[in-house]
Order: sequence, then C-alpha cells, then structure tokens
Amino acid sequence: MPELPEVETTRRGVSPHLVGQRIQAVRVHHQQLRWPVPGDLSERLPGAQVLGVERRAKYLLLGTSAGTLLVHLGMSGSLRLAEADSPRLKHDHIELELGSGQVLRYCDPRRFGAWLWAGEDPLAHPLLAKLGPEPLSADFDADYLYQCAKGKSQAVKTFIMDNHVVVGVGNIYASESLFMAGILPDRAAGSISKARYAKLVEAIKFVLDRSITQGGTTLRDFVGGDGKPGYFQQQLQVYGRSGEPCRHCATPIKKLVLGQRASFYCSHCQS
Ligand SMILES: [Zn+2]
Repeated sequence: MPELPEVETTRRGVSPHLVGQRIQAVRVHHQQLRWPVPGDLSERLPGAQVLGVERRAKYLLLGTSAGTLLVHLGMSGSLRLAEADSPRLKHDHIELELGSGQVLRYCDPRRFGAWLWAGEDPLAHPLLAKLGPEPLSADFDADYLYQCAKGKSQAVKTFIMDNHVVVGVGNIYASESLFMAGILPDRAAGSISKARYAKLVEAIKFVLDRSITQGGTTLRDFVGGDGKPGYFQQQLQVYGRSGEPCRHCATPIKKLVLGQRASFYCSHCQS
C-alpha cells in the first residue's frame, strides 16, 4: 500500500509536469473506484490550468483554476506521465490530457483509490477536516504528542498510527520508529514521559524523511512519476525480522499483534 513517503515521492515526481499545464481532456475509463468518480469531471476540468500539487496525509490535492481534485492511491494506485499517443495499460482507469502533449494516467488494479472533487476549500472536505497534524510539520512535537496521550491506555503503536493523532505513520514506520526511540510497542500511550515522546517524535520524522529521500519504501511494485521504480527497500531494523537477531544487541526480534497489525520489537533495546 502506498504510504506517506510514496505519496510525497509521487507528488514530487508528477508536480513539475503538471503545474502550469492546461487540462485538455479528461477520460474516465472505469468510474467505480473506492467511491464513484464524479461524472462531471470531464465538464469541470477541460480548459482549467493546474496551479499546484499539494499533499495532505496520503491525499494528493491537484489544485486547478476550476477547483481542487483529491486523489488517493488506495491499495495499489499509481500515477505516471506518458506521451498521449502511447498505449494505455489495462488498469489505467483515468487519464488527464495536458497541453504539453503528455497524459497523466492513474493506474489502480484493485480500485481502492479515489478521485473526488473538493471544490474551492479542499481542507474542509470531510475526508481531510479531522486529520491530525502532518508528521514532518513543526506542529507535531513532543508537547503535542504527550498532551494527546494523557490518560490513554491504548498501546502506543496503535496510538501513533491513529490519523486523528498524527497522519501518515503506517505500520512499518511505527515499528521502526518505536525501535529507534527504544519504546515497547504495547506500552500504554498515557504512561510514556515527555522526554521519551521527544525521542519518538524525532524518530518518526527521521524514518519518514529518510524514506522520502530514498524515494519511498514498500514491499510492492511502484512506478514513479517519471516512470522509474520509485520504491526502495531501506534497511529495516525490526519490521518483518521476527526471530532474526537485533542489529544492535543480537537478541531475537519478537512479533506481536496489536490492533490486528503485526508489530516487531527487540525486548532488550525497547522498554
Ligand atoms: Zn536489541
């Protein structure tokens, strides 16, 4: 599943090809994604100019002179640019034809992604309005996380994966960040000190930032905005390494299921 770093990588990949372009045509070949693609996109968008490509959580916000389009890659979605006369692939469900002669293609074999119209005020859209802060923003700091965790008995790993707390900390990133901060994944969120949350915030920012720099990490295939593979498998410390020796202390890595998600940790390095 594309995680925040992959979505950010996609944004950076497609943005230079889109901004300033005028949309010539919209072709929706398969309307049924996670929600139906609005039928009026092919009336709204032609003639509009792309003003910017932003990201909020795992949504891409394609700002145009006609309003903003929200794009979510779901489980298997990807965007890529191609020449308009090149053949469309089987799962290319939506195409935006640009003034440059290129076409932006949205491919999504499993069709869990979304293309939605968000009009003039995209951040007020119901899917975005209640989201927590961006993990790489200054708003996400130890004070914020500590205050948010007060009184919570929920496991800290489940807590940091909650989009209302902070967006974009997926399962791999949560396991890796908790290892880096030395915190056990099943510790109650409300029992962790502010000093330890400071370490965790630093670890989350580091892990996400490194993944963005490396072009994202995933266990799946991905085609980046420029048509090159965009995901790199960075060296994981604990995720998926159950039974293997910890890279720091050689204690076998343990696995535990929290909130139905596999969690990996070192019982010696984390407390
Ligand atoms: Zn260890």
